[in-house]
Amino acid sequence: VSLESQAVFSEILTSTLNDEETSEILEIFRTVGILPWLSQSANRCKSIELKPLVWHGKNEVYGLYSFKDDEIKVALTRSTGSFNQPFEWGRIERLSHVAKNATEAIQRTLVHELGHHIHGRLRSHNKLRFGLSLRSIITNGASQYGKLDVYEYFAECFVAWVYHRTEFAVYDSTGYATLSAVLKELGIEVNDLGYSNFING
Ligand SMILES: [Zn+2]
Repeated sequence: VSLESQAVFSEILTSTLNDEETSEILEIFRTVGILPWLSQSANRCKSIELKPLVWHGKNEVYGLYSFKDDEIKVALTRSTGSFNQPFEWGRIERLSHVAKNATEAIQRTLVHELGHHIHGRLRSHNKLRFGLSLRSIITNGASQYGKLDVYEYFAECFVAWVYHRTEFAVYDSTGYATLSAVLKELGIEVNDLGYSNFING
């Protein structure tokens, strides 16, 4: 884990991968530019766990966030079909499926879980306004999973903000404006990774 990331993750990270492989995956946090925010004591999560499989009850899931415990878990196993899928706004099952390879899919899931963590910070700031403001717009979500409920909508919006900001502004302008305001309120500035495959005309 790089020095910068180490300061943030050393005490909270569990991984079944070796240091080099773990660093490669966690590098996404540095690329996104979230480390300064995440390293502030009020914004830290309690644990990040990378392991072959993650279970939610009896279901195998790609990732999991616990609002109660402030914990992120991400699975290191990705089946073919859970990445390298063509991106069509609102039609793709999950935004992690747009990833060009398994590593990027894992990273996108990490960003999704980070989205839940950010959402959790906002709920503690201003719970009511937030829940109500999103309920009417989740049908515009970037992925099918993002239309499931307000929580998945928010997390997928954050993934869209990081990877597909151009499309986000076009296809879900209300969500874009809402998330933009939310991130500003929380003091979060993150990079636009510009994976956009948006073609004009
Ligand atoms: Zn989620």
